[in-house]
Order: sequence, then structure tokens, then C-alpha cells
Amino acid sequence: MSSLREKLKALEELQRIDLESNEVKGELDAIPARRAEVDRGVLEARRAYDDEKSRMEGNERERRQLESLLGLERDKVKKWEGRLGEIKTPREYAALSREIDIAKKANESQAEHVKELAEQAGEVQKALAAKGEALAEREEGAQSDAKALDTARADAEQRLQALESRRAEAAKSVDPALLAKYEHIKKRRGGVAVTQVVGMTCHGCYRNIPPQLAITLQRANSIETCPNCNRIIYAAEAVNPPAVSTA
Ligand SMILES: [Zn+2]
Repeated sequence: MSSLREKLKALEELQRIDLESNEVKGELDAIPARRAEVDRGVLEARRAYDDEKSRMEGNERERRQLESLLGLERDKVKKWEGRLGEIKTPREYAALSREIDIAKKANESQAEHVKELAEQAGEVQKALAAKGEALAEREEGAQSDAKALDTARADAEQRLQALESRRAEAAKSVDPALLAKYEHIKKRRGGVAVTQVVGMTCHGCYRNIPPQLAITLQRANSIETCPNCNRIIYAAEAVNPPAVSTA
């Protein structure tokens, strides 16, 4: 027959295992979010690259359009200039000359615009190359991050498995009725069902217990619960007495 001290120790062990399992489960639960974070990083880098690329394409498209338009306009001016020689009256000559001047000025300003776009294209090209590099880097990083997360998951699953078999073993030494009580309290008290009382203070809720109860705990011959948080309590020094000094 196991003494109450042994029962409480078994319960204490069970609690340790359960808390450790909760931690490992927390690690496992956090992995999908960490994975999503990695994917989001790649997505952002790709979006930045794509944005720069469409800026580049927009610039090229605009330049091509302006250049072909400018070609047509210049042809027109050439045609007008050819026609000048056929004109008979000075008035008509002056009118066409003025048209030609206006068209030439417009063409010059268009040519200037094309030049500006070409300069911008150089900048955009540089930015595009940088974003392409950042994307490649991020993709490479994501690969190794994903691998590390897979390893972390496998490791946590293994630890959880080991804890589960340790728990099954520990649960064997706890009375079924006490185990049921433990499980019931654990569910309602954030996973902590059994806790030490140090001095007069319950370490589950950090409130003081009545002095009479503290004395009862010292005897360690009954299962007691905290009047405030309802957790199973025991006096640390009564259940795990310090080694007796022989000095
Ligand atoms: Zn308490």
C-alpha cells in the first residue's frame, strides 16, 4: 500500500509531465504560424519584384509608343518641308512654315520625354535587379527555415510521444479516484491541478491558506484542496522533506 506521501509525489510527477506536454504542444501549435510567416516573407519579396517588373514594362511600353508616334510626326514634318518648295504664295509659305515650327517644337519636347523615360528605365532596371536578388535570397532562406521547422516539429512530436508514455507509467501509481479529481481540477484551472504550499501561501493562486489547514498539510495524511483556487495542495517540506543532515 502506498502512503499518501507517495500518492502526492506520483501526482506531482503527473503534473510535471502534463505541464511539459502542454509546453511541447504549444511549440507544435506555433509551427503553422511560423511557417505562414516564412511564406509571407517570400510572397512580399515576390510582390515587390513583380511591382518593379511591371514598372519596367510600363516604361518600355510607353517609350515604344512615344517613339513610334514621334517617328510618324517627324515623317509628317519632312513631308511638309518637301511641300514648301511647291508653294506659290508667300502667305501659304509662311503659314506652312509656322506649322512646321510648331510641329518641330512639339517633337523636340516629345523626344526629351523619351530621353527622360530612358533614364528612368536605367533606375528601374537597377531596382529590379536588386529586388530579384532579394527575392532569390528570401526564397533560399525560406527553404532552410522550412527545413528547420520540419526538424523542430519532428523533435517536438518525439518529445511528446516520450512524455505520453512517461505519463501512462506515472498515472499507474495514482488512485483512479484521485486521478479523476486531478483531471477535473486540471481542466478548470488552466492545466495546474496540484500545487505546493510554501509557508502559508498556495503556489496555485498565491493566496494564503488558513493556519489550521497549513498545520494539517504538515501531517501529510489527507488530500486537501486550496479553499481559494480548489487545487490539490501539499506542503512541499512534508512531501519532499529535505535530506537530514548528519553533521
Ligand atoms: Zn490556491
